[in-house]
Amino acid sequence: MRIQNYIDGQFAAPANGAYLPNVAPATGEVYGEIPDSGAEDVARAIAAAQKAFPLWSNLTAAERSAHMLRVSQRIEERLDELAAAESKDNGKPVKLATRVDIPRARDNFAFYATAILHDASESHDMGAQGFNYTLRRPIGVVACISPWNLPLYLFTWKIAPALAAGNTVVAKPSEVTPATAYLLSEILDEVGFPAGVLNIVHGTGPNVGEPLVSHPEVPVISFTGGTATGARISSIAAPMFKKLSLELGGKNPNVIFADCDFDKMLRTTLQSSFANQGQICLCGSRILVERPLYDRFVAAFVEKVKALKVGRPDDPATQVGAVVSKDHQAKILHYIQLAQEEGGTVECGGQALYPEGAEGGFYVAPTVITGLNMGCRTNQEEIFGPVVTIQAFDSEAEALALANATKYGLAATVWTENLKRAHRVAAHIHSGIVWVNNWLVRDLRTPFGGVKASGVGREGGFEALRFFTEPKNIYIDLGE
Ligand code: NAD
Repeated sequence: MRIQNYIDGQFAAPANGAYLPNVAPATGEVYGEIPDSGAEDVARAIAAAQKAFPLWSNLTAAERSAHMLRVSQRIEERLDELAAAESKDNGKPVKLATRVDIPRARDNFAFYATAILHDASESHDMGAQGFNYTLRRPIGVVACISPWNLPLYLFTWKIAPALAAGNTVVAKPSEVTPATAYLLSEILDEVGFPAGVLNIVHGTGPNVGEPLVSHPEVPVISFTGGTATGARISSIAAPMFKKLSLELGGKNPNVIFADCDFDKMLRTTLQSSFANQGQICLCGSRILVERPLYDRFVAAFVEKVKALKVGRPDDPATQVGAVVSKDHQAKILHYIQLAQEEGGTVECGGQALYPEGAEGGFYVAPTVITGLNMGCRTNQEEIFGPVVTIQAFDSEAEALALANATKYGLAATVWTENLKRAHRVAAHIHSGIVWVNNWLVRDLRTPFGGVKASGVGREGGFEALRFFTEPKNIYIDLGE
């Protein structure tokens, strides 16, 4: 499959005519081509978005909502096809794409299409003297840049609020997983989405992402990806005073107290460790266990991890699929090697796998490592694969100190049946999100994002609508 850019309502080849190979992680085969676009394509997309802005931003909220709901509806109609494409492109189990990724993309459009109908701005009364009211107006052309781990899910999570708020968008999916973004452009075409309102340009970070971020006519950037890339984007955007939302990496603690509901914790910890091959920014990669429970937990957990079925993503029985690329597989294996050099014990996993019929694919056995201290690189750096470490703690204070001992602060999980402790620990963990006695329960109305090196700003609910609008205060004097 050769995919194309989508600019000004038209499918378009890249101006330079160059394409990159698209690889299926499950088998290692090249199965398609994606545009290796450049600054010229980006400039055309920005010009189209600028041209479409007056029309789109002046539609009523109800009119924008109707356009977006048609997209949501069409995602639902093509759900199985989109899920199969996502699974092939990313290596994730098709079951996961069908249950999570694509339904969430559908919901992102529906959620913001309806949220905008309930949006309101403030007025501040000053009595006989006068009053203020606040307009929240769309800003202009927004850049949305997303990663490969939850491709359509995260792509639409940015695009939908930006559009709902009345902006026009130039979006760049990850060059590693472009397929469903391309299918989204087909959907825009099918539903007659207004030309130029959402433009999709494919290609690499340096060739497409940087020209987009540095373009003077793009005042707002919403980025999800690695912390180093976020720092690079900030350095370009800051002197130009652009508005930035950065959702970056994580090294999330999963804090387990001895009084927890053991069975539920064990089941969920298996998920929070290895769902999507551990390639979710919210995965709990550092498991901290209260010492009285430590031995029992390690034994039970390792037994369950060994029983996980790793295999071809298109097999409905598969629980853990392929990691996204050969490079990423090499990076994960490198960290497992490093963990051993740092004194860690590999309790299970620790190597590449070659499932029958998919020997060329990129698989890593779910890996559990014990015996490391918190300061080592394995516990400080984001691995972003099916690798977790387990450490023991003796007190609530120690649990908090260990949980907070990285530069990241995205999400945390806390397991305890003690209500007061749950609130205390949740309040003192340095992260944007804490789940108590569960993981990855999402309500799209809640603020989503991280602190420290995990990012700047919040997405979700009205936070996103506020981010994608500029407030303007207007004072009306009532005096003579
Ligand atoms: P990445 O930073 O390499 O790439 C993300 C996107 O940025 C891609 O589209 C890429 O092409 C683009 N890009 C790369 N260099 C660029 C540049 N100089 N200028 C502009 N754009 C550029 O990240 P990745 O490897 O695709 O994704 C994995 C990372 O994403 C992990 O660190 C993970 O934690 C993070 N992530 C964070 C969240 C969150 O919500 N906080 C969610 C998912 C993933």
